Amino acid sequence: MTFKDLNIIPTILSALKAEGYENPTPIQENSIPIILDRHDLLACAQTGTGKTAAFAIPLLQLMAREAASDKNLGHSRNQPIEALILAPTRELALQIDESFHAYSRNLPIRHAVIFGGVSQHKQLNDLKARPAVLVATPGRLLDLIGQGLLDISKIKYFVLDEADRMLDMGFVNDVKKVVRLIPQQRQTLLFSATMPASIMQLAASLLHQPKTVQV
Ligand code: AMP
Repeated sequence: MTFKDLNIIPTILSALKAEGYENPTPIQENSIPIILDRHDLLACAQTGTGKTAAFAIPLLQLMAREAASDKNLGHSRNQPIEALILAPTRELALQIDESFHAYSRNLPIRHAVIFGGVSQHKQLNDLKARPAVLVATPGRLLDLIGQGLLDISKIKYFVLDEADRMLDMGFVNDVKKVVRLIPQQRQTLLFSATMPASIMQLAASLLHQPKTVQV
């Protein structure tokens, strides 16, 4: 199996080649077709399995397709955040943002990352560049929304990464607040290393007829 067999577009294929990725990992092989088919996804995967690329690659591809059709229709791309990726920690948020950076190098799709514990100044400047992809930790995200500096009401894609850690760190209410601020009509992907009852409950409330992947 190759990324080409998964119908990945040439602009992303060349970026993956530059990263030295030769073949998809099992989580990628299983998740990418589901996401490209616009299904919700419940994925059980540990760190190190390639789970970030399993959602970042197909989301970029879906957004690239829309960007191309908007361009053909003469629509401007000066539009709101399309994909929101929620991560429990600053380190993970930064890693996810770096992955989007690497895979989107040949695409006109901007990304930004926000997290707490540092000044919001640089992050606000990054947001002014109107990223299509926003990677965020829940606290800083809700903080900036509360200040009226950020709008997530138009997102189309919502990813909850390391959902079990998110709950362990006490972010369940923040996650619920975020979900109330995004459209009901969206594609949602939930990644978790473990699937305790609390995650299954959260999944049931967030996902619409999800496909399941376990590696
Ligand atoms: P993750 O599980 O997302 O934290 O990824 C673990 C590591 O695997 C990261 O350093 C990725 O750059 C790398 N990686 C992800 N997918 C592939 C792939 N298909 N081939 C080679 N390396 C990969």
